Amino acid sequence: MSIETNSWRPLNVGVIGGGIGGMSVAIALRRAGHTVTIYERHDFAGEVGASVSCAANGTRWLHEWGVDVSKGDPVVLRKLINRDWKTGEPVSVYDLDDYEKKWGYVYNMFHRQYMHAMLKDSALGEGEGVPAVLKVNHQCQDINLQTGTITFTNNTTAHHDLIIGADGIGSAVRKIIGLKPEKKPSDSSCLHANVRTEDAVRLGLVDYSQHSALEYWGGQEGKWDKIVLSPCNGGKLLSYYCFFPREKGDFVNHTWGGEDRPVEELLAPYPELDAQVRSHLAIGTEIRPWRLWVHEPYPYITRNMVCLLGDAGHPMMPHQSQGACMAIEDAAALGIIFSKTYFNGNIDEALSVYESIRLPRVTKVQSAAAKAAYNINERIGFSSNTNMSTYKVEDEKKKLTIEEMNAWVYPTIHKIQTNSRRYDMYKDVEEVLAAKRKLPFTAPYINGLPVGLKLPNGYTIGELAKL
Ligand SMILES: Cc1cc2nc3c(=O)[nH]c(=O)nc-3n(C[C@H](O)[C@H](O)[C@H](O)COP(=O)(O)OP(=O)(O)OC[C@H]3O[C@@H](n4cnc5c(N)ncnc54)[C@H](O)[C@@H]3O)c2cc1C
Repeated sequence: MSIETNSWRPLNVGVIGGGIGGMSVAIALRRAGHTVTIYERHDFAGEVGASVSCAANGTRWLHEWGVDVSKGDPVVLRKLINRDWKTGEPVSVYDLDDYEKKWGYVYNMFHRQYMHAMLKDSALGEGEGVPAVLKVNHQCQDINLQTGTITFTNNTTAHHDLIIGADGIGSAVRKIIGLKPEKKPSDSSCLHANVRTEDAVRLGLVDYSQHSALEYWGGQEGKWDKIVLSPCNGGKLLSYYCFFPREKGDFVNHTWGGEDRPVEELLAPYPELDAQVRSHLAIGTEIRPWRLWVHEPYPYITRNMVCLLGDAGHPMMPHQSQGACMAIEDAAALGIIFSKTYFNGNIDEALSVYESIRLPRVTKVQSAAAKAAYNINERIGFSSNTNMSTYKVEDEKKKLTIEEMNAWVYPTIHKIQTNSRRYDMYKDVEEVLAAKRKLPFTAPYINGLPVGLKLPNGYTIGELAKL
């Protein structure tokens, strides 16, 4: 008996929020044959100037969707480097030289505005399916969960068969479907600063762009002080995320878009920091706080014809650099579930599959991101560096590994990975759908992970109850 169906029907989909997740899901669903309208409260004039990383588990979907990745002007990362706080000497290095060979796709570091523009072009431009329509200055105020009618603050309304709340960390849709986040301010604060590589070079400082690396100073077990450097814009811009204990500066109630902070405030928590990187921070511009709240996982992310996606459904700390990737994966999941192969016209069933496959995965990343805040050894990549002298994680069996994150590659697109033994979202969807339709599922996969796959934390898939 096949899981495939021929009772597919096209849907009229409304996406609330035109950020990274909203644009991604518009691409995935238009390609799946649906008509998509995106409603964005802003006109994008104030988009944030900072880096966003896109590991292989995000990059693979960009390729599958035919996105022109070069438009994002990425830096392809070659290394993760953890440096000593005071001397800057490398403490733990995770080499990404064989990353593409192993996982099928590269690890991109984008500039947020470029990434957003790249996704927007794919969502609205030429390509497979009907181009999505973007309506800016449309802020969602309410949704009638019985009829699927959205009301906007500009007094207009719209009706949709399926509504996706991709409206970010402060989601209105989340509230509308009855979720009340349990959240607390993080124990650490973050200021973000940009340094132009040419300015650093002109002053005779180290040209970190040459390393093509995501570099971390500090972040060792139990410490909140951490500097994260990510080069973007082809290396022309160095994006610095600077973390410190909240008692040294509290920004929990600040948002992006306010006044820039003075450079003295950025440097104050770091008297003992490696002089090279400190000199970089001293010429930092656009210094802005990044509000950090720890959200407990939500019990559900769908209700009637509405579902949440990206930060709206699972806001996470930035310490696994997976926020954007998780939003892209959510979009990919919806694209598969509502595709001609699997969608049988039943939206309730489709959204319950979405929740079943996404909630456990995003929840695990969410919790691992909170742990990596104070222990860099919990960060994907470094969590495999078990032979480093400074390596220590809370629970070897619970740590997040690169194997779990980096998914399989669609065989007909990338022949090199046909025997791949990694996470397979299609199999994940098929297994859940088979259970719901009371059909047998015989493929050797559990939760999308191949039976027999040995994870670095000692688990072998199939030898244990479901992850
Ligand atoms: C400075 C910064 C740096 C980051 N760096 C990384 C990184 O390196 N790696 C990584 O993986 N993640 C990173 N993240 C997180 C990542 O950007 C988010 O996880 C990702 O953007 C999630 O996408 P999203 O679509 O859910 O939310 P967003 O991209 O925030 O989009 C939400 C959109 O919804 C709109 N909106 C909100 N409310 C409404 C409403 N009521 N009606 C209509 N529209 C509405 C907003 O205006 C916005 O355009 C970073 C985030 C920030 C802010």
